[in-house]
Amino acid sequence: MLEPRVSSAPPISERASRILVVSPDPAHQAELVGLLDQDGYEALKLSDVDELIRVVAEFEPDLVLLDAAQLSTSCVELCGELSALDPKRHLPLLVVGWHQADEVEVVAHLLAGADDFIRDPGAAIELSARIRARLRVKRLVDALHRVRNERDLLRRDAESDALTGLMNRRALERAAQSRVDKRERFGVLFVDGDRFKQINDGFGHLVGDRVLISIAEMLRAGLRPGDAVGRYGGEEFVAIVAGAGPESARLVAERLRRSIEALPALKPGPERVTVSIGTAVFDPRSPEDVQSVFRRADLALYAAKRAGRNRVVMHTPECEEALSPNQSSARPSAPLPRVPEVGQ
Ligand code: GH3
Ligand code: MG
Ligand code: MG
Repeated sequence: MLEPRVSSAPPISERASRILVVSPDPAHQAELVGLLDQDGYEALKLSDVDELIRVVAEFEPDLVLLDAAQLSTSCVELCGELSALDPKRHLPLLVVGWHQADEVEVVAHLLAGADDFIRDPGAAIELSARIRARLRVKRLVDALHRVRNERDLLRRDAESDALTGLMNRRALERAAQSRVDKRERFGVLFVDGDRFKQINDGFGHLVGDRVLISIAEMLRAGLRPGDAVGRYGGEEFVAIVAGAGPESARLVAERLRRSIEALPALKPGPERVTVSIGTAVFDPRSPEDVQSVFRRADLALYAAKRAGRNRVVMHTPECEEALSPNQSSARPSAPLPRVPEVGQ
């Protein structure tokens, strides 16, 4: 028999908690469910352990009470299976012993994934308190998961471009900075839509947006997983090509340029979309910073535009000379900002 209860109902926040009682023994079930009812939980009995995974998925319990003594399948095994179900969803497992379990048995359950082992469920107050304690932990873990999810969503929004889903300028600059910090060689490709204003003027801004999305898709598809690509602003994209020297940066750029040129025409839309690309390479032996290598790629892009568009130009000292004497950057109106430190 259960002892007379001293503590009564748990706080309101626990009242709606769902608890699954897994035991093939009707007397055990009745005793446990009676206790849970008294405490205001929503309890569900389950006799057949073969149904356990399905019932857990459907009932979505906040806690599972497993009868250690009476189950045909090893209760230790069940603890392992249940605790491995969904790492993102904390499901507390309490094993009820109903007998004088020895240390080895208790330890085996706890190591397999049980959160607690109750040797004497007849001590109803203690069982009730242990359930409440586990549910308290579950609420904290669930809250932590929610906060993490929200943080991940916010981080994704803060680092991605809404139109194309690519990285935004801030994320790109961080990606480049992290490679500079690790002294890794990389190529930078500045990719700019040719005569984009004409596309907008001729077909409207929505078509212009669709063209930008197509360019973004080609860039993403044409790069390797270790590379990075993002929308730097307007109709301008930047790709970071891992490990690339001048020649391989040029080859990658040329491949991307061709793939965009070969895009099927949008209807309605322009017959052909082309981009100009400027490339520069970060050499880890040089003291150059991100701003400087980006500026050189931008300068090469400027040279590609001047040379007639729809082409790739690698940065060379001549690109610098091509600037008029009173111009200190390819885009006089848009100096590169300092890259914020990661974690800021
Ligand atoms: P160039 O070949 O010299 O690069 O010519 P351009 O017309 O592409 O260059 P310009 O800088 O004169 O114009 C850029 C155009 O890109 C104008 C602007 O409206 C368009 N643009 C920038 N951002 C977006 C966008 O998000 N959507 C659309 N549809 N157009 C955009
Ligand atoms: Mg343009
Ligand atoms: Mg532009």
